[in-house]
Amino acid sequence: MPVMSVHNPPETQAGAILTVDLDAIAANWRLLRDAADGAETAAVVKADAYGTGIDKVAPRLWDEGCRHYFVAHLSEGVDLRAVLPAEATIHILNGLLPGGTALYAEHDLVPALGSLDEIDRWIAHCGASPLPCNIHVDTGMLRLGLPPDELDILAADGSRLGKLDVQLVMSHFASADEEDDGQNQKQIAAFQRARAMLPMGRASFANSAGILRGPAYRGDLVRPGIALYGSNPTPWVENRMHPAVTLETRILQVRDARPGDTVSYGATYTVEKPMRIATVSVGYADGYLRSLTGGGRAFIGNQAVPILGRVTMDLTMLDVTDIDPAKCRPGDLVELIGPHIGVDEVAARAGTIAHEILTGLGGRYHRRYVGK
Ligand SMILES: *Cc1c(COP(=O)(O)O)cnc(C)c1O
Repeated sequence: MPVMSVHNPPETQAGAILTVDLDAIAANWRLLRDAADGAETAAVVKADAYGTGIDKVAPRLWDEGCRHYFVAHLSEGVDLRAVLPAEATIHILNGLLPGGTALYAEHDLVPALGSLDEIDRWIAHCGASPLPCNIHVDTGMLRLGLPPDELDILAADGSRLGKLDVQLVMSHFASADEEDDGQNQKQIAAFQRARAMLPMGRASFANSAGILRGPAYRGDLVRPGIALYGSNPTPWVENRMHPAVTLETRILQVRDARPGDTVSYGATYTVEKPMRIATVSVGYADGYLRSLTGGGRAFIGNQAVPILGRVTMDLTMLDVTDIDPAKCRPGDLVELIGPHIGVDEVAARAGTIAHEILTGLGGRYHRRYVGK
């Protein structure tokens, strides 16, 4: 997959090593498929499969039985087509870009049409022989999809619908990953109304969280993303997903600090007692977010090592005062994401969600895949 931001330097030269467990992603897909209880299970692999590598993940999920794939951009679909068998169905979530229309047919991609304007452009493009498309209905997010007034116009007569080959009528939840269910119930009602007006094709509604919430959320084809990659989509219950990503960084230097010394830019951390500080080769340019300043931590063995001072572009300082010096030398690896600190905890400490941590994973890591 030509993801140009990923250089994949050799392990010995990389400041950090990202390990993606394809078996875990496959196990997560099977878990979601079983939970979907009869609805067909697709895979959302936008943004390079949430940073994990679409060229590895998508073919592995094909081997598991996944036949429908969703990406955001047309260009992602073109790239994905090259690594999947011709029978795979590839859906483009972001709709119909003016100027890109011909590429959908050329690469056998299905656009999610989200406005009358997009629908009209698609009809004009297809002429007398409709090509497969999806209709995206907005049920309460005001992001993409037909707004209610356009839905009414579309459903009012067959003038447009008769010229479309509709595969999916789809919508997206705003709050399926939040415990409070009010917004979801409103969207479920809106989607039922849309489905009654557009009874053609199959219904597709649930994201990861929706799948686990129950049948009313699902439709006929479900679209899990984040849960495939190990994050807990329903954080108010225990995570059933298998962690799929490990990130380790390398220690560059270990130094002694005395009371009164200050650490990193802005001198925001003042040393109060004799300490040992390790500088590791990861920073916000690698997607290790600057907002981990203050609350972030890493692990050496099963001991936590807090971040000291600000995370910088390429480097981060860790408090290794309590670590056996033999386990903490230049070149040794430190766990940033892994068995002791999962992606959801890193995200929480950075004040964000696992989606942002994973999709921001940097291009300077050495990438390693386990599983086939
Ligand atoms: C990203 C996305 C998904 C997947 O959502 P997750 O919360 O990652 O499971 C599903 N549908 C649409 C329209 C999306 O944009």
